[in-house]
Amino acid sequence: MQFSESPTQIRQDAVFVRSSVEQRDAFWRGKDLPSVEKADLALNQILADLPSEETRRVLANLELIHVQTNDILAEGGVPISHCYFPLDAVVALVANLEEGATVEVGLIGNEGMVGIRVILGRSTGAYLAVVQIPGKCLRIKPDLLKAEFKRGGVLQDRLLQYVRYMLAQVSQTAACNRMHLLEQRLCRWLLSIQDRVKTAELLITHEAIAHMLGATRSDVSRVVGALGKLGILHSSRGKTTILDRKALESTSCECYWIVRNDYIYPLRARKASSGKGNL
Ligand SMILES: [Zn+2]
Repeated sequence: MQFSESPTQIRQDAVFVRSSVEQRDAFWRGKDLPSVEKADLALNQILADLPSEETRRVLANLELIHVQTNDILAEGGVPISHCYFPLDAVVALVANLEEGATVEVGLIGNEGMVGIRVILGRSTGAYLAVVQIPGKCLRIKPDLLKAEFKRGGVLQDRLLQYVRYMLAQVSQTAACNRMHLLEQRLCRWLLSIQDRVKTAELLITHEAIAHMLGATRSDVSRVVGALGKLGILHSSRGKTTILDRKALESTSCECYWIVRNDYIYPLRARKASSGKGNL
């Protein structure tokens, strides 16, 4: 593939649809939310396989909700109402720049949690947290999570490990946005999404990808079209299918591997020590 343009071109007209999470909260108020099962906890890497006493306490305070594309789960400077543990949803952390420009600074899937600043003593969000791939999340009130964190159990270790990982991810993404070409960044981003949803068919539009990469929709469509001609992707009607992951990996910048390895090494160590084998 020919890399023909300068690195990041920040998009200036990005606008997100407002959250509908609050509206669904109103719908559920006074009704019973779906009950949370231990099996649900197993779908999030922070909550999976906690000691039984921690599992019991956390389970009592979690709610299971469905989130939709463009739902906003947290916002910079706004009090965090809940912390969210994605089960199969994927959430992007987005920096809002002046004049409406946006660019993604991190992704959160079933390896993590939205609202990590709560355990660092902050009650407001740092970035916009907007749903990219719809699905299920477990959520908990910040005060209840902080209380469990202060007990100093396995959950505390996991959350601190996740903070370290997010620092690495956000700083690497910042460098990537500044230094690497749109083609490389788009490949990195698609690989990062696929890792979290475990499917090659991604229900995401060129418009949404453009919001995340700080690019124009036409530039994203041009790059996707070029990758399509190489047989790497197929994109149609709001769905992008990864046809050749190996080629996508070799077209991505190194940022994908740097961030992925920072996450996967601790997780592999945990799985090995718990006797659950390698990833
Ligand atoms: Zn990069």
